[in-house]
Amino acid sequence: MPLEYRLSPACQTLKPSATIAAAAKAKELKSKGIKVYDFTLGEPDFNTPQHIREAAVAAMDAGHTHYTASGGILELKQAVCRLYERDYGLKFAPNQVLISNGAKHSIHNVITSLCGPGDEVIIPTPYWVSYSALVELTGATAVLVPTTEASGFTLSAEQFAAAITPRTKLMMLNNPCNPTGAAYTPAQLEALAKVAVEKNIPVLSDEIYEKLIYGDTQFRCFATFGSEVAERTIIVSGVSKAYAMTGWRIGWTIGPVDVIKAMDNLQSQETSNPCSISQYASIAAIDGPQESVEAMRVEFEKRRDYVVGRFNEMRSKFGVTFAEPGGAFYVFFNVEKSFGKKLGGGRVVNNATDFCTALLEEAHVALVTGDAFGAPGYVRLSFATSIELLQAGLDRLEAFLAG
Ligand code: PMP
Ligand code: GLU
Repeated sequence: MPLEYRLSPACQTLKPSATIAAAAKAKELKSKGIKVYDFTLGEPDFNTPQHIREAAVAAMDAGHTHYTASGGILELKQAVCRLYERDYGLKFAPNQVLISNGAKHSIHNVITSLCGPGDEVIIPTPYWVSYSALVELTGATAVLVPTTEASGFTLSAEQFAAAITPRTKLMMLNNPCNPTGAAYTPAQLEALAKVAVEKNIPVLSDEIYEKLIYGDTQFRCFATFGSEVAERTIIVSGVSKAYAMTGWRIGWTIGPVDVIKAMDNLQSQETSNPCSISQYASIAAIDGPQESVEAMRVEFEKRRDYVVGRFNEMRSKFGVTFAEPGGAFYVFFNVEKSFGKKLGGGRVVNNATDFCTALLEEAHVALVTGDAFGAPGYVRLSFATSIELLQAGLDRLEAFLAG
């Protein structure tokens, strides 16, 4: 008799990451020789800057090819401390820093260290796909608080306060935000910080897109609003987006010593340590020349301006609405006006997931459904790709909307 494996309750309900699944679907079509206009994954299309790649080679040559301390090497923790002092005037000690296998792993470690059954975690929607999945894995409840396009997809202090209950363990803030590109103003952040202090709620501030800021948008690290706020802030960030290092898998957490220690224990049981070579390369990224960061940001800004221009045209032609992204590399747009109408190839759809499927099948344009981000009716486009590809893909999207 064949053995029937019964999955754990957590894994019976766990869905694959929708962003990664959408990218895999686009790749599958490409492997069949079809030209796909792929705007699914949020990752810089640039190669990692040369001096960082060279630091990795030097690390290998120097024999840094072994296990490291589970929570990361002291030199990298010290470099992270230098980074926050240099960029934000914040002083942290290395024992407040934990290096993990990408910011996604950092988030998982924070949630797993703090949350369990009976706990609630406040998550403003639209949220990045993994937030709710990682909360639910611990048995805690994700309390989803919807934000609107009219507010630029930002959570107000009133909404935050109203969502707090005696069971609230954590609030998850993502600034700038994936999938909306929303960037909070310093005043908005200060208002949220005030609630966190008054109600004594820790905030996980995911700042992975901190260097990708456009126009006159200002970025403020959540921990910069005074010591009482800093005490309640757990910062997550990393090298993936700013330094085009998604494949190197290095993220970090900065938080209270006891939480960092718990996360280190967890990580030592889970993964031993983040990649030794990537850790040395990340020191070069943080301490080395920063011109490439700005050069990539400028390129992303050009793409953003182009894409925003195109969506403004689509707003008047097809009623597609969106809030202009102040950061990150996504446009999150509403396609509800196209529901029930004849689209490209004669297709009629009634939700964003079917919209994305029909668009991929008819026009070979790959996007991610807003359903995955807790925002029905919306679709996410990543503009972390060339203007030429964006132009061709948006032409095809327009033709599809025109029917
Ligand atoms: N947070 C957000 C909001 C993200 O979009 C991502 C993925 N790009 C991450 C965290 C994880 O980043 P990393 O690649 O460092 O795991
Ligand atoms: N965070 C990126 C995205 O949203 C990469 C994919 C992922 O890690 O889920 O596209």
